[in-house]
Amino acid sequence: MIFPPRASRLGFARVTAKDDIRKEALRLGFDAVGFARADVPLDADYERYRSFLDDGKHGEMAWLAKAPEARRRLDGEHVLPGAKTVVCVARRYGRSADDEAADPELARSIARYARGRDYHNGLRKKLRKLAKLARALGGEARPLCDEEPVLERAWAARAGLGFVGKNGLLIVPGVGSLVLLGEIVTTLPLEPDAPIAERCGACTRCLDACPTNAFERPFVLDPRRCIAYLTIEHRGAIPEPLRDGIGDRLFGCDDCQTVCPFNARSQRQAHDVDRRFEADPRWRDVSLPDLLALDDEGFVRLREGSPVGRATRAGLARNAAIVLGNKGDPRALHALARARDAHDASFVREAAAWSIGRIEAKAER
Ligand code: SF4
Repeated sequence: MIFPPRASRLGFARVTAKDDIRKEALRLGFDAVGFARADVPLDADYERYRSFLDDGKHGEMAWLAKAPEARRRLDGEHVLPGAKTVVCVARRYGRSADDEAADPELARSIARYARGRDYHNGLRKKLRKLAKLARALGGEARPLCDEEPVLERAWAARAGLGFVGKNGLLIVPGVGSLVLLGEIVTTLPLEPDAPIAERCGACTRCLDACPTNAFERPFVLDPRRCIAYLTIEHRGAIPEPLRDGIGDRLFGCDDCQTVCPFNARSQRQAHDVDRRFEADPRWRDVSLPDLLALDDEGFVRLREGSPVGRATRAGLARNAAIVLGNKGDPRALHALARARDAHDASFVREAAAWSIGRIEAKAER
């Protein structure tokens, strides 16, 4: 649908343009839309972010320290000169518990967002359409889907899309936190929405559920202890004291979201979920020992269209070794011994040796 530019009085034009963008975002399948001023810097969030970096909590994620001004404001040359508004959108990827229970076993050890096809392409297409509308309405517009280092949760909270819960994630009322975020930054001056007050109350379920105690306190996560960081972004050996907590998680972790009542309530509602988020059927044909022995060719096939490639071939093998050790199944000993003796990455050889020790100790007990 193409919307003509509005040329009536300025105040009226802003209201109708905002309404048009909201309607189009919902028509495109976004579950929530919010509007925030893009030309007012996120000073408080940015200061918290700076101390996060100063404390070294970004671990090996060096890109998080790049382009600090793009994190503070969106109206500069890093994002879009003259930007006045950021339109924040959320797309739900969570599925019903019944659908998830039918996923292949290996897929259930992968964070929900990564079980299906890579979401970026689908989300980018929708964002491009929304940006096209903003241009048709008379503004410059730039869609963002992880292209720039913006503090998207903070912008989304400012836009009233949701509130940041004690688990540090954006919770969209009625939709939950299993959402992908995207933005349209535009020079259109649109009326901002009011932020939503935090609604966690006395609940501490996410903090109590974290298998590696990664929360220092409510709202403050140390990513270096978080299973999502350890299994996806961390290169090299995973510290031994954290391996037990990894349990059977091969790629990422959803525990602090699974226990959140905002997601439980949301899951009970019928909802149209993109097929892209359904578990990739390829996971039926892959086992943990397969991942231990994955060669370059096999890895290229596996990562095609899937977010799991981000962990790297050796990272997936390391994670598979740790999961096998935690499962304690002696049938995995042969594959682990091969990885211990022959894998090209030293930290995979070490993880395999650790797992063998664990399985043998369990057998002796
Ligand atoms: Fe807030 Fe409870 Fe959800 Fe944690 S689990 S984000 S404390 S509501």
